[in-house]
Amino acid sequence: MPAPVIIKKPTGNHAPVVFDSPHSGTHYPDDFDYVIPLTRLQWAEDPHIDEIFAAAPESGATLITATFPRTYIDPNRAATDIDPDQVDGDWPGFEDVSHRAKAGVGLIRTASGRDKTPIYERKLTVAEVQARIDAYWTPYHTAVRESLNDAHTQSGAVWHVNCHSMSRFWPPVYQRAERRNTNDYTLGNRDGTTAGVEFTEFVRATLAGFGFKVAVNDGQKGVELVRAYSDPAAERHSLQIEINQRLYWDGRSREKTDGFDEQKKIMTSLIQSICDYARAQTR
Ligand SMILES: [Zn+2]
Repeated sequence: MPAPVIIKKPTGNHAPVVFDSPHSGTHYPDDFDYVIPLTRLQWAEDPHIDEIFAAAPESGATLITATFPRTYIDPNRAATDIDPDQVDGDWPGFEDVSHRAKAGVGLIRTASGRDKTPIYERKLTVAEVQARIDAYWTPYHTAVRESLNDAHTQSGAVWHVNCHSMSRFWPPVYQRAERRNTNDYTLGNRDGTTAGVEFTEFVRATLAGFGFKVAVNDGQKGVELVRAYSDPAAERHSLQIEINQRLYWDGRSREKTDGFDEQKKIMTSLIQSICDYARAQTR
């Protein structure tokens, strides 16, 4: 098994920019103990998002990627985002149960797909969940937090882009009349609370300039990783980007489509634009 988290430091002209890809990991740990076909778990991956953003270090940004799958433990949830009823034993220090945890898509995913097929035959023990937090969730969050803090200390500001893919269909939780998600890209800043208007608009306009349909806070608004370390008033900006999988990925064959190279080129260009923007703002 590879290390749970890979941190690639800037090799080019440094910019106070951090990209992270929490859901592109494909190494399923031996102690996962799932009882459904592996392909069903793979539906939840953000395929090749780490590869699409691979140019970040040479443009001057840090790139952080998870190698473990989000179905094992999800770094884009709070470590407390657990339904105690889904754990065997007394879960310590729990507050209230989120709608995501209740639906089986909290920190530890317990259900798969629209029909909510149980992923496990049994409840995970408190010790098992704690071990996953310690060995996977915490290293990921430590990498993101320290990279953001280092950049902010050096430059007085930091721009963080949290990278994902989205399904071509709206998940049931959004209860859309139209099932098909026609946005090409969706940016999320939790309704303006995690990134400034200017930066969000800069990224939106850059992507729209490639001729794509870009939405902001439409359904996907960002979850824990953009929330946890952001503070726009202190020049700590975190923005989520979701790329519609239909632009580069065939979910049936699980192969890249002809669109993959174009998306990688567009994101490489976006990375350069964001690094130029950040260097200009902090000069
Ligand atoms: Zn994702």
